[in-house]
Parts: sequence; C-alpha cells; structure tokens
Amino acid sequence: MSTFPIEHIRADFPILGEKIRNKPLVYLDNAASCQKPQAVIDAIVRTYSHEYANIHRGVHTLSVKATDRFEAAREKVRAFINASSEKEIIFVRGATEAINLVAQSYGKSQFKAGDEIVISAMEHHANIVPWQMLCQQIGTVLRVAPINQQGELLFDEFEKLLNSNTKLVAITHMSNALGSINPVEKIIAAAHAKNIPVLLDGAQAIPHMPVDVQALDCDFYVFSGHKLYGPSGTGVLYGKQALLEAMPPYQGGGDMIRQVTFEKTTYAGLPHKFEAGTPAIAEVIGLGAAIDYVSAIGMDNVAAYEAELLDYATDQAQQIKGLNIIGQAEHKGGILSFTLDHIHPHDIGTMLDSLGIAVRAGHHCAMPVMDFYGVPATARASFAMYNTRQEIDILMQGIKSLIEVFG
Ligand code: PMP
Repeated sequence: MSTFPIEHIRADFPILGEKIRNKPLVYLDNAASCQKPQAVIDAIVRTYSHEYANIHRGVHTLSVKATDRFEAAREKVRAFINASSEKEIIFVRGATEAINLVAQSYGKSQFKAGDEIVISAMEHHANIVPWQMLCQQIGTVLRVAPINQQGELLFDEFEKLLNSNTKLVAITHMSNALGSINPVEKIIAAAHAKNIPVLLDGAQAIPHMPVDVQALDCDFYVFSGHKLYGPSGTGVLYGKQALLEAMPPYQGGGDMIRQVTFEKTTYAGLPHKFEAGTPAIAEVIGLGAAIDYVSAIGMDNVAAYEAELLDYATDQAQQIKGLNIIGQAEHKGGILSFTLDHIHPHDIGTMLDSLGIAVRAGHHCAMPVMDFYGVPATARASFAMYNTRQEIDILMQGIKSLIEVFG
C-alpha cells in the first residue's frame, strides 16, 4: 500500500479538491461513474481546441489528424485488453449499447425460437433487458443461473443450465450491486466445452483488474469508458473477429458502408461496419488518454491497492452494529453494499451527502438482486484507485453518527 502513488494520483483528479456542503468531497460512487484525471480533460480540450474535425471523411489536415487520434485510441484499447486485432474493437456509447448490439445483431441473426440464453441472477439490467427484448422478438428463452446468500454464482447450477439449446452465456465479470467477481475462466471453459460462446459484461471489472481477452478466450467483452476514468458516451464491444465478420450491421448510415445505390448497399469491413454515424470523437480520444493513464499506474497495482481498501472497509463495517453487508463473496471487487437497521437507504444517501460523502442509494439497476435479498434498495460505497483509508474512516464515522441519531 505504501508504494502506491496515492498522493500523486489524487492530485491528478481536480474534482477531488472540491467541497460539497462545505466539507471535502469523499467520492465513493465509482461503480456508477468514475472521476476524470487532468490528462483526460486535457485530451478533450486539446482535441476541441486544436485537432477537431469529423473523422474518416476528409482529406484535409484536421480530419486526418482527428482520424489518426481516434484510431490511435482504438489501438490503445486493443493493447489494453490484449485483443489480437483492432478490427475486434468496436466503439459504442457504453456497455449497454454493446450488449444491445450483440443481442440485435448476433442474437437476432443466429438464434431461433426455443434457443436459450443463460445469464445470472446478479446481472445489471443492461444484461437482462436486451435479452428479454430479443426473447419477445424471436421467441428465445432466458435462463437464469442462481446465486447464494454470499452473492456468489452457484456454479453447478449454472453448468446444469447448459444444454444443446443454449446459444449464448452472457454474464457479468463483476457485479455492480454486490461486488462479486465471477469465476469467468471456469464459466468460459464449461460453456466452450459445449460450443457455447460467452459474452462478459466487463463494465465493473475493467477499472479494477487486468483483463486479457485472449487469455480469457471470451467471445465478446463489453465495457463503458466512463467507469474507466474516461468520458461518458464511450464504450467498447470486443468480439472475436470471426463472430463479428458473420454478424450483420446493427445500425445503418454513414461510415459503415462500402457502396450505396438505391438498389443495393454493401457494407464496410470491421470495425467500421458497426460504427454508423459520427462517433463521440473527442471522447474516444479522451478514453485513449484514460487508458494511457491507468496503464502507467498498472492494473495489477490498482487491483492490489483496491483489495486492501476493500478489506479495510469490510473490517470497519463489520464492527458497526446494525450494519448489514449485502454481498460477501469470497472473490470481490471494491464495492460495499449495505443496509442499516431502521434507516432507509435513501436516507443514508441523503444524510451522508450532508457530510460531503457521495454514495449511491437505490436498486443499482439490479432489481432482481434486491428482490433476492428482500430489500428495496441498498446503500453502496464503491471504491476507485484514488480513494484512501482516511476516506473510509470518514464514511464509517458518518454511518456511526447516523445510527446514533436515527437508528
Ligand atoms: N453492466 C454493469 C455491471 C454495470 O455496472 C453497468 C453500469 N452501472 C452497465 C452494465 C451499464 O453501463 P452503461 O450505463 O455505462 O452503459
């Protein structure tokens, strides 16, 4: 912990110096969205100030420059997740759009009525609803692998769901509501043994641990830029090239075509086939800057630092009478979801805000998880690499004062 350059990192995030309600900001809502380092802000300002034009269209200098920067960001993403080719990196608006793309392009073209899609009971709505929409459209069937009270996938039950009708496993790498990290290597091995492709929802995992899509051998991997210290409006769909080649376009328009006549249109090759219209140019360039930033720190170092933060926070939380931790998986990322006896999570959120502490209170876009635990909502403190033990102390102190007054 002592070698982690926490003071330098904190100094790189201007917003961390803000005061909220006259108190220093303690930002613990990172699972919803992370704050941005100056390098990302600078990349966006530099693009709009000096290097902005539409991409892939013009021969003029600015367009060429913007295109080069945009495509350089694609290479940064490729290297960051170790994809084998830039053709496998599709820029989208976020994890949500990436999953919808796979459902509507891959699912709609490859699946038929009666085919099954396996998800888990800990999914974010973004990895439930697109599949339900597909089921309504073409008659596929959604199967849900259960979890235990700790918030861990019941692997044997998951495996039992895989059969000759299963056409896809779509599962989260790390749960946003519970922090559970799924045994994705085992999941992929079990699915591949039955020739079933696997989509991993990496929205939560990507900012917290190294991800190597070739080592994992996943078929699709999706994530959002804004949770990786990058701009909102950016996201990535990784797909194995052969799968992406075989998929029809998701949206039609400019940039995704080879030739258009009124009789017939032919499509561009990968990755542009899936990138219709003008993308979030400056933001994608900003995502490239975010990847440079976290890569310089090293995802292994980030993972080790955050694991210590979570252990510390969990220890502290366990000592508070009346605090119930929701989600106690053995393999867990930096998320502490909890309820307090007799105090509604929304009141926890509001009262902590009055102390300058930002946590999320709600169902975390995972209503089935709330149903499973029989709670309407939880309060959730979620950690990033710029958080500190002192901030956790402030959180715990805040919780204790709440309990004293209202508990
Ligand atoms: N999956 C998970 C596990 C998430 O945590 C989120 C964001 N909370 C999403 C998907 C959706 O991401 P976005 O809203 O950025 O598309």
